[in-house]
Amino acid sequence: MIIELGNIFVADGSIIELDLDFNFDDVEYYGICPFNEKVVLKGKISNHAGLVTLNGNVRCNYTAPCDRCGEICSEMIDFDINYTLVQKLDNDDEKDGFIIVSEKKIDIDEVVLADLILNVPMKHLCNDDCKGLCAGCGKNLNHANCECKEDNIDPRLAALKQLLD
Ligand SMILES: [Zn+2]
Ligand SMILES: [Zn+2]
Repeated sequence: MIIELGNIFVADGSIIELDLDFNFDDVEYYGICPFNEKVVLKGKISNHAGLVTLNGNVRCNYTAPCDRCGEICSEMIDFDINYTLVQKLDNDDEKDGFIIVSEKKIDIDEVVLADLILNVPMKHLCNDDCKGLCAGCGKNLNHANCECKEDNIDPRLAALKQLLD
């Protein structure tokens, strides 16, 4: 979605309210499409004393396999975005936090999606106490106890379990 910024760079005090939702359900991340519910942005683009900023909050559901047991589960991602919009930058080193909008329009999908990817949780668990899979038989220990004894554990599966933890 392209947002036309109009005269925001010259009109001190002007505000463009943002109350948008995005559909990123076909965006692949590590082989799955985890953003399968709508992504919501609430915020504004505003000119305050000549400084044009984009500030908002993004919320969405992240749905992916649990890191330990592999069961599909969702968690809420919620983060703020804060950028300064400029028509040009003099110093190429200082790009962090700035978005260059030379055409007086901004591709808001691109901004939100880039930040969304950065805010994907490092650890994704169905439950903080997820027991994971048995290293012996592969059973999901959240649902069933298994008959494995510690010393029967297949070393290959044990190594896999360590990786998953
Ligand atoms: Zn789990
Ligand atoms: Zn087992």
